[in-house]
Amino acid sequence: MRLLPGDSVAVISGVGPRTAAALAAAGVRTVADLLWYLPRRWEDRVTPAPLREVREGGEPVTVWGTLIDLRLKRVRPRLSIVEAAISDGDTALGVVWFNQPYLASSLKVGQRLWLHGPVRPGRLLGLQLQSPEWEAHTDDREALHHGRIVPIYRRLGSLTGRRLRALVMRVLRDLEGTAPDPLAGEAPPGGAAPGLLDALAETHFPPAMADPGERRELLRLLHARLTPAQRRLAQYEFAGLAVALQRARQARLSQRAERCVVTEEIRQRARAALPFRLTGAQKRALKAIVADLQRSVPMGRLLHGDVGSGKTVVAALAALVVAGSGAQVAVLAPTELLAQQHHGTFTRLLASAGLEPALLIGAMADADKQAVRQGLARGSILIVVGTHALVQESVSFARLGLVVIDEQHRFGVAQRQRLVGKGRAPHLLVMSATPIPRSLALSLYGDLEVSVLDELPPGRRAVRTVVREGTARGKVMEFVAREVRRGAQAYWVFPFIEEAEDVPVRAVASHAREVRRGLPGVSVGVLHGRLPAGERERVMAAFASGQLAVLCATTIIEVGVDVPRATVMVIENAERFGLAQLHQLRGRVGRGRHASYCVLLLGDACTPQARERLVHFATLQDGFAVAEEDFRLRGPGEFTGLRQWGRPDFKLADLCIHRGELEFACQLARRWMEEGTLEDKARLLGGLVAGDVGPA
Ligand code: ADP
Ligand code: MG
Repeated sequence: MRLLPGDSVAVISGVGPRTAAALAAAGVRTVADLLWYLPRRWEDRVTPAPLREVREGGEPVTVWGTLIDLRLKRVRPRLSIVEAAISDGDTALGVVWFNQPYLASSLKVGQRLWLHGPVRPGRLLGLQLQSPEWEAHTDDREALHHGRIVPIYRRLGSLTGRRLRALVMRVLRDLEGTAPDPLAGEAPPGGAAPGLLDALAETHFPPAMADPGERRELLRLLHARLTPAQRRLAQYEFAGLAVALQRARQARLSQRAERCVVTEEIRQRARAALPFRLTGAQKRALKAIVADLQRSVPMGRLLHGDVGSGKTVVAALAALVVAGSGAQVAVLAPTELLAQQHHGTFTRLLASAGLEPALLIGAMADADKQAVRQGLARGSILIVVGTHALVQESVSFARLGLVVIDEQHRFGVAQRQRLVGKGRAPHLLVMSATPIPRSLALSLYGDLEVSVLDELPPGRRAVRTVVREGTARGKVMEFVAREVRRGAQAYWVFPFIEEAEDVPVRAVASHAREVRRGLPGVSVGVLHGRLPAGERERVMAAFASGQLAVLCATTIIEVGVDVPRATVMVIENAERFGLAQLHQLRGRVGRGRHASYCVLLLGDACTPQARERLVHFATLQDGFAVAEEDFRLRGPGEFTGLRQWGRPDFKLADLCIHRGELEFACQLARRWMEEGTLEDKARLLGGLVAGDVGPA
């Protein structure tokens, strides 16, 4: 029976209804799904060790031999032991299995076996293999679990890794090799272009070379996800993402937006609204945005700039242009705090233009929310700033002309689309300070044009950053006290809200008291996500107005909070944060005219490497340089924020490991779009990679 990738797992030979159901319950419905269930790691079981060389040790050993002894002992009602011995003609080795009495009848003395397991001191024969994996060793059939580089799988529901190994092997054997492959013949310069099924087969069961040193190197590459086959798989997965982005772009370009008309009056209002001169970068971005808004194709633009580069002002001016044309503007912020702050900024900037932005957040009274929803549906409210409350179904717009999303890598593409879908074909402006390398941003936002704010507003001073041991906390407090007496304000950031028994870190709930004691006479507030929304609001407002001099907080203040008089940022357990995140936190100070400081306090468990990383960070000021460094140092597994980005369902592809693969896939998708083959490729890819390849 020949299998195709899109076939249901139920048609795999040997898969009955029970197994099929177990697979489906674990999200594995098709043959392709099963093949994308990749090994967690691999073991080299290629060469059996001679029994005389077997030593007790932590590493499991692979051996073979003839079964020379086999007996079942019932020790207690709940404990049975199968005791056996094998011989390779030269040496004998004991074997025990606990509580697997059926082995006594399924194995036969005289039979040849592969065994793989740990070696422990035994009761009788000296050393003993303990509960090893076993498999018949015959001349006419290749072993599955031994004599090769063996894939180790995570259990999948009720299916053991061993069972999965057999299933995957069967599928690979029965698979039709002729499924149309959308990447056929496409390879990055100098790279090979194995077909998807070959790359999958090679990743499940890597062909082993004879030389043990070469095999060690292969295993290293496999675990780093860097074999040619794995790189190829990353290309397929990223192609799925890139195609989704290009399809979104194509869908947007095929729509007709409302063109804004920019009158001289609007220009004057915009000039009047500004309390300062725009930076060159802001001017360039605004010019591009205003040009977009005047076209009949909906804008799709990313405004990418470091924290403090002045994105909000640019967005407010864009809102003024759209509202001036009589269309509505929705501004989506990731947190209530930020929504309120943007609302404040928009209100201040746009008041002179006669515009009154509304606010819509979950914490508002129902009646107030209802009033805003009505105003939006009727069209009497032109500008609204809010949280995901804006995305809810009950919100509709009379004439939505512009969607602004401040995303700080917190919204997925889907959420973006949902807000955009509330208009006919609104313009879209995405603001991001996600500190990622520029080239990566171009790939990840492949559906958007990009404007970069690479210039900070004038008068900003570099934030002086220092690294201090935790034992210097007293000195740091004295410093903060001095700064506060000068009229400055300070943030004191902790990695956790509450202490956990097993994590030796400082938590805001308990250590805020310590800060209070260390700063007598200074008003200290506490802010974290577990406080009721009203309380959070009150604390933040008190800090913004200067009533509170010091704010002990979690990273809840990370995103976009703007208090110009705050000039000191103390970060506890700084080693627990990524550089990019530290940079975001540091961006909360250095916003006013005064010298600003960032103090990185080290926890007791900080390693020398972590310390070195922070000392280097202290010398970096530019956010994109920090982003590059963060990517270089942290490697896989750390970029949880980004991992979630857009497609949480990559099986193997990793933005940190496979950047070249991502760029290749994005170029490919762009070319497919130009050639007009995007839809075909999307259809083919849809059946081959997990996840969504874009709009239906
Ligand atoms: P971002 O959103 O990019 O982090 P903001 O828009 O919040 O940055 O701007 C940061 C601060 O800089 C705000 O206080 C803002 O008023 C101020 N600002 C923005 N643009 C300018 C400018 N051209 N000149 C002076 N100050 C500016
Ligand atoms: Mg901002």
